[in-house]
Amino acid sequence: MAKRDYYEILGVERGVSEAELKKAYRRLAMKYHPDRSPDDKNAEEKFKEASEAYEVLSDAAKRSAYDQYGHAGVDPQMGGGGGFGGGNFSDIFGDVFSDFFGGGGGRGGQRGGPQRGSDLRYTLDLDLEDAVRGTTVTIRVPTLVNCKPCEGSGAKKGSTPVSCTTCGGIGQVRMQQGFFSVQQTCPRCHGSGKMITDPCTSCHGQGRVEEHKTLSVKVPPGVDSGDRIRLTGEGEAGAQGGPAGDLYVVVSVREHQIFQRDGKHLYCEVPISFVDAALGGELEVPTLDGRVKLKIPEGTQTGKLFRLRGKGVAPVRGGGAGDLMCKVLIETPVKLTRHQRELLEGFRDSLQGDELHSPKTSSWFEGVKRFFGDL
Ligand SMILES: [Zn+2]
Ligand SMILES: [Zn+2]
Repeated sequence: MAKRDYYEILGVERGVSEAELKKAYRRLAMKYHPDRSPDDKNAEEKFKEASEAYEVLSDAAKRSAYDQYGHAGVDPQMGGGGGFGGGNFSDIFGDVFSDFFGGGGGRGGQRGGPQRGSDLRYTLDLDLEDAVRGTTVTIRVPTLVNCKPCEGSGAKKGSTPVSCTTCGGIGQVRMQQGFFSVQQTCPRCHGSGKMITDPCTSCHGQGRVEEHKTLSVKVPPGVDSGDRIRLTGEGEAGAQGGPAGDLYVVVSVREHQIFQRDGKHLYCEVPISFVDAALGGELEVPTLDGRVKLKIPEGTQTGKLFRLRGKGVAPVRGGGAGDLMCKVLIETPVKLTRHQRELLEGFRDSLQGDELHSPKTSSWFEGVKRFFGDL
């Protein structure tokens, strides 16, 4: 009997992507899987056919051999290269099916037996001040903990789980499909090999229950957004007596109304009057430890950065504290009184034609003149 084209079997185009291929195969496998219709020979054939097609096309080397030589390129009976090793078939099977059989595949491939609980992640929003100085916060996290009445076994007190009748307590089942057999996690006991006949009423046989727990988290000084604090063993409870996972508290520092942080340095903007900028003087600027005085020289221009050494953040990983950068912004006075206008007009007259007082303006005009040739 002539074999059907693999692409045709899966109902996809030749140049289809690997993801599309997998999707197509899953759709067919779901439809024709022997577990769904155990007595349907036609379905079983279709399932085998689709599995074979997928086994070949999901392997880049086999796929290119198939594309080039057709079935002769991959079929062992035709003497071509590649062929069904059968060796990695359980891999693709596990890969495609693990998520809908709920097998152990999702947890690093462990099957049956004690399983370590999942790690949990908690985002902790902190004010900049707390992140810089360190603090202790109380958080409430939802988590799975071992059920107390059954001590995590899932079986009602006084009863014990019995061997799973589907897999005979092995946790794995074998399925024979023509010339290859597939081993998979037992769908009934999910690989544990045990069945609970009399489930605990508190956890409905799960062995674990969801609970909120309150934890105290010590935040060391200097943390920044993205830093993680690990609380060992505070994650989800393990399954079947496995150890609990860890809880990762991930820091997220809120935006501050005055300071921006960049690593260990802090930045802030300080508005000053153009008179202070011209005459020079002393400014009061904010730091995380309170106000400090900052001397600015006469003739300070807008945008100038003043560095206050050591007024930044001491990083959590050690090293000296960073600096605080203050950027002065010159503010133009508004709503002038008549008297103030007269003073400024007098001041403007005094500047007339004297380039000495505005070096930037003079050089700017020089540049413009050169740019346009001659004005
Ligand atoms: Zn079983
Ligand atoms: Zn229980």
